Amino acid sequence: MQKSEQTDALIAQCLDELKGIAHFRYTYKYSETAPEFLKSAPYAEYLKGSSGLFIAVMTLGAEADAKIKLYSRTDAAKAIVFDACASAYLEYLSDEYENGLGDNLSYRFCVGYGGSDIADLRYIFDIVKPEKIGVTLTSANYMLPSKSMAGIVAVGNGAEKSCKNCVIATHCEYLKRGEKCYR
Ligand code: SF4
Repeated sequence: MQKSEQTDALIAQCLDELKGIAHFRYTYKYSETAPEFLKSAPYAEYLKGSSGLFIAVMTLGAEADAKIKLYSRTDAAKAIVFDACASAYLEYLSDEYENGLGDNLSYRFCVGYGGSDIADLRYIFDIVKPEKIGVTLTSANYMLPSKSMAGIVAVGNGAEKSCKNCVIATHCEYLKRGEKCYR
C-alpha cells in the first residue's frame, strides 16, 4: 500500500471509531442584541448588520479525549491523526447542527479567531452555562473536554470569513505560515 493510501485508510479508521464513540452535544443562547464583550473588534465587525446572534458551546464529549490519550501511549502516529479527525468531526457536526437552527446564518466565529482573546470564553460560559453539557473551563481558559468549541453565529448579515479587518493581520502567525485561523 502506498503511503498516501495508508494515511487515507488511517483517517477512515479514525473517523469510523469517532462515529462510534463521540457524544456530540451543543448548547446555545439566542439574543437579538450583542452582550457588551461582543461590541468591540473583532466581534463587532463580524456582527455588523446582523439581526441577532447565537452564542454557543459544543463538544464531542470526554470519550474522544480518552481515545487520544490512549493512542498517545500506544500509537503516536494514530494519536495525531485521531486528534485531527476529532477536530474536523466536531466542526462538521456543529455545522450540521447549525443548519437546523434557522435560515440566513453566517459562519461560526469561534473565540480565538481574528485575534480575539480566549479569555472571552469566560463571558460565553457565564451566558451559555455549558457545564450542563459537560464542558468546563480551566483557570487558564482551556475547555474540557478538549474537543469542545465556543463561538457566535450571526444571523442575517451574510458575514464571510476574511482576514481583511482582523486586528492582528499585520503580525498574524497563521498568515506568516501561509495558513488561516479558519477554514
Ligand atoms: S488568519 Fe486572518 S483572521 Fe485569522 S488571526 Fe490571522 S489575520 Fe486574523
